[in-house]
Amino acid sequence: MENYWLNLKTIVDQSQKIVLTTHVRPDGDGLGAEAALYSYFDGLGKMVRIINVSPLPDSFEYMNPDARFETFNVTIHGHVLEHADCILILDCNQIDRLQEMAPFVQKTQGKIVVIDHHLNPGDFADLLCIDTNSCATGEMVYDFLTIHSGKMTVSRESATGIYTAIMTDTGSFRFPRTTPGVHRKTAYLLESGADPSEIYGWVNEQKTLESLQLQGLFLSQIRTAYDGRLAYSVLRKSDFDRFGATLEDTEGFVKYLLSVRGVVMGILLTEQPYGFKLSFRSKGEVDVNRLASQYSGGGHKNASGGKMTETTDVAVARLIADAEPILNAMELSE
Ligand code: 5GP
Ligand code: MN
Repeated sequence: MENYWLNLKTIVDQSQKIVLTTHVRPDGDGLGAEAALYSYFDGLGKMVRIINVSPLPDSFEYMNPDARFETFNVTIHGHVLEHADCILILDCNQIDRLQEMAPFVQKTQGKIVVIDHHLNPGDFADLLCIDTNSCATGEMVYDFLTIHSGKMTVSRESATGIYTAIMTDTGSFRFPRTTPGVHRKTAYLLESGADPSEIYGWVNEQKTLESLQLQGLFLSQIRTAYDGRLAYSVLRKSDFDRFGATLEDTEGFVKYLLSVRGVVMGILLTEQPYGFKLSFRSKGEVDVNRLASQYSGGGHKNASGGKMTETTDVAVARLIADAEPILNAMELSE
């Protein structure tokens, strides 16, 4: 067993007031991990709260039966964070990804714990539980719950959260870290009451019309470079305005860039007040984490994100130029 789980067990056993949080613009992994731990700690009689800097996206409301997902508000939550016994930061290893919550987390009198599967953690926590081989933070949460409880099954609510985390972060059980072990753990989740068809439908079949129409535009604006190995698409503010769509509506778009034959790297640029939010995806040995680190971001080898402040033409030209050595590095390693 990893040492960090023993350390986490000690911290959790000594804590009564526990806060769970995840990164800005949370995804199914961070949210599912929170839902799973909430159910478990609540069952142990602890005072547990989920406080996120971003509101819960509508498609994840099924994990929010009694409004347990709270959106950070300084007046309400400043002192909760300060007086917590421990704060568990899930699916996030950079303090700045907690945005305006970050200073209150850093001021806490309790322990700060990170549970995460991304590369290159920042230096701000009392305990780092990091496993970059895990397919999802939710998989790590499953590991911890089984160690702590001594049982392979979990509550139905925990199972639903962990299944959500694993399903979303493995792209529905197809990304490279979908190991036999992941499937074995998932079998226990189904035995614990997670319902695969229901969860798939809740997460993936609740798109807004605005989102689908924006997706059509996104697809029609895909361009390629380097003999079709790089695909990119730009969504401007005017594109969002045309359909009344929001950034949340772009969830899942970037993966279509990799579905073009021959493409090994995809970049989605979405216009923000500060410039562009960048989403990178890649196949195999193409390391987009390296590219993201040049754009104030990070993530994984095959999925990362960042930001830039340049105008559209300059932004695209710079990204295409910076992508070249990363695409070429792959050729050398073949
Ligand atoms: P997405 O493209 O879905 O927004 O993000 C893809 C991956 O990159 C996720 O695993 C996410 O955690 C990571 N990521 C996205 N944006 C950032 C960022 O600004 N900083 C860091 N460190 N990671 C990011
Ligand atoms: Mn994740």
